[in-house]
Amino acid sequence: MIIAIDGPAATGKSSTAKAVAEKLGFMYLDTGAMYRAVTLAVLEKDISLTHVYTLESFLTSLDLNIHYIEKTLMIELDQLDVTDRIRDPEVTAKVSEVSALPAVRKTMVKFQRKLASGKDCIVEGRDIGTVVFPNADLKFYMIADASIRAERRKKDLLTLGKNKDISELETEIKNRDRKDSTRVHSPLSKSEDSIIIDTSHLDFYEQVNMIVEKIKTIQKGKT
Ligand code: C5P
Repeated sequence: MIIAIDGPAATGKSSTAKAVAEKLGFMYLDTGAMYRAVTLAVLEKDISLTHVYTLESFLTSLDLNIHYIEKTLMIELDQLDVTDRIRDPEVTAKVSEVSALPAVRKTMVKFQRKLASGKDCIVEGRDIGTVVFPNADLKFYMIADASIRAERRKKDLLTLGKNKDISELETEIKNRDRKDSTRVHSPLSKSEDSIIIDTSHLDFYEQVNMIVEKIKTIQKGKT
């Protein structure tokens, strides 16, 4: 069973996907983390995004691996744990540009399908219900007010020992959403058959339980 969770930046998709997966004994896949890892590699290796052949050979030799350590996703690049580094501000600033490239999307979508197909998996991102798994069993689209999203991002950064001005974070989030939803290939968009969840004023456990209950209903229908 594949459950898609899409939506703009910082709406709580990752933490929700992880909690829902834990409750149901499903796997979860944070596809944003995968695009972030590619972006980190682009920055580290100083890959030109305008040279198609350089980019394609870089993608072919990309050594990206996903592991689950005590149910938490660990991202490995060139056999090094980069789980924290993919959240660096330089990566966040560049990720929308990198993930808009058709070659990058093609490689990542193939990898995502390989990782999740045939499993019970909560897949979280921007184009899961529209492109990666258009036939997902259930699709959710999470939204939240930009100011609330900026507050949440600030808290996340603080837990990583980083601090940033809240208005700067709000501008960054809005810019990233604009880039992600206006790109030509697989833009962020709500698929018609997805359920909208506005997390602005929802308690985290409420939102997790709401999704869990909807999945359980579908599961019952399948048995
Ligand atoms: O989810 P997160 O905010 O970590 O995603 C980082 C970036 O990765 C997004 O802003 C977007 O540019 C890209 N992304 C994407 N498609 C996905 C998931 C993420 O283009 N399925």
